[in-house]
Amino acid sequence: MKSKPVSKCNICDSDIDQDCGDIIGYFGISEVAFCVWCLSSMTDMVIQLNDLNNIETLKERIRDLEDDL
Ligand SMILES: [Zn+2]
Repeated sequence: MKSKPVSKCNICDSDIDQDCGDIIGYFGISEVAFCVWCLSSMTDMVIQLNDLNNIETLKERIRDLEDDL
């Protein structure tokens, strides 16, 4: 029997609708779901925590990626 897919946002508990940009994915082996608002907030947090809104950081990251080619 297939397990029931996640149907609520793991953060705010709102209903998940993948047609509206909500996503279902995996953190390791745990299935997770995020509504588009929580996903956007989480993305913003990651950008800030990793200094990815800083052009110098981005240029350095691009250089690192090019070095890996
Ligand atoms: Zn949410």
